[in-house]
Amino acid sequence: MTHPFLDLAPLSAAHFASIEDRVARLLDTRQDVVIMQGEALLPLEGAIRGAAGPGTTALNVITGPYGQAFGDWLRDCGATVIDLAVPFHTAVTAEQIRAALTEHPETDFVSLVHAEAATGNTNPVAEIGEAVRAHGALFYLDAVASVGAEPVLPDAWGVDLCVIGAQKAMGGPAGVSAVSVSERAWARMAANPRAPRRSYLSLLDWKERWVDGGRKVLLHAPAQLEMLALEACVERIEAEGPATVMARHASAAAATRAGVVALGGGLEPYVRDAADAAPVATTLRTPPGVMASELVARALAGDPALPLAAGGGALAREMVRVNHYGADATVGAVQACLAALGAALKEQGRTVDLAAARRGVENSWG
Ligand SMILES: *Cc1c(COP(=O)(O)O)cnc(C)c1O
Repeated sequence: MTHPFLDLAPLSAAHFASIEDRVARLLDTRQDVVIMQGEALLPLEGAIRGAAGPGTTALNVITGPYGQAFGDWLRDCGATVIDLAVPFHTAVTAEQIRAALTEHPETDFVSLVHAEAATGNTNPVAEIGEAVRAHGALFYLDAVASVGAEPVLPDAWGVDLCVIGAQKAMGGPAGVSAVSVSERAWARMAANPRAPRRSYLSLLDWKERWVDGGRKVLLHAPAQLEMLALEACVERIEAEGPATVMARHASAAAATRAGVVALGGGLEPYVRDAADAAPVATTLRTPPGVMASELVARALAGDPALPLAAGGGALAREMVRVNHYGADATVGAVQACLAALGAALKEQGRTVDLAAARRGVENSWG
């Protein structure tokens, strides 16, 4: 019996390279793009372990849970880590980065998450990139939750290591990811005796055995199902037009905020300033006395397929996430989420205006 997932032909080196080129076009980068055969945590960890060591002083910006993880990896590599944490209801500013770099002039590595699906904020990477470049530090960026939802431009922004994954706004699979690597970043890794080599975490292996060899021979059999899905999702973004895809995400975020304000019932945008709110997902703060995880459970009881989640860890008490990304970056998904949240709030005795929320979303979407 034939099956669409089974009995696949091996993916050729030329095909693999063409998918890398396609991802490079999406990021508008001339840097080397290496596609990694695993979820985005693979290049996120591989890039830190490759670039950081005992001589590194890293400014690690924490705007959500991923920044926390990067700090742990950096410390594990022997780096001196300066954590710059900002509250989850806001974004970090280029001014804060500049001040931290002035206070710690020995900083030679900066790690940042672009957009945080987990906390709903997005950081001004273009401005931050200017500050990092002026200082001369290597700039590492987690763009997993921003790619496809808003512009991600490693070359224009001076990002040396830019990691993306397909599973959020690109609407692709979780089992494949990519990283763009600048010449400076390759040089840093090559000079790092502790950089992973002959390891699944190693970016240098891909540099030496794949990129430098003219991309003729793959290191191992690629995950062809995930690679084909990655190719398909980039193709689909190209067909719709990246600007259109990003506009859909921006509209979904704006409409969710407008709808929630009109809904009332004590629910409000978690990220205070709309300019700091990520296009990929909108986080909401529940009123005192309403446990976010319970509210989400009630809202999902009617339709378990809605893209709603409670915040992770301690945030499960007060944060609701509307994950309006990929196929859910639509007016219909936003309306359905707010209607379900409104109904759940009503069940808990809160006064809500479902009709006003509907109109708020419609008017905002335009
Ligand atoms: C989603 C996401 C990732 C990938 O991690 P998962 O736990 O697999 O979802 C990495 N970084 C950021 C900022 C993300 O939002």
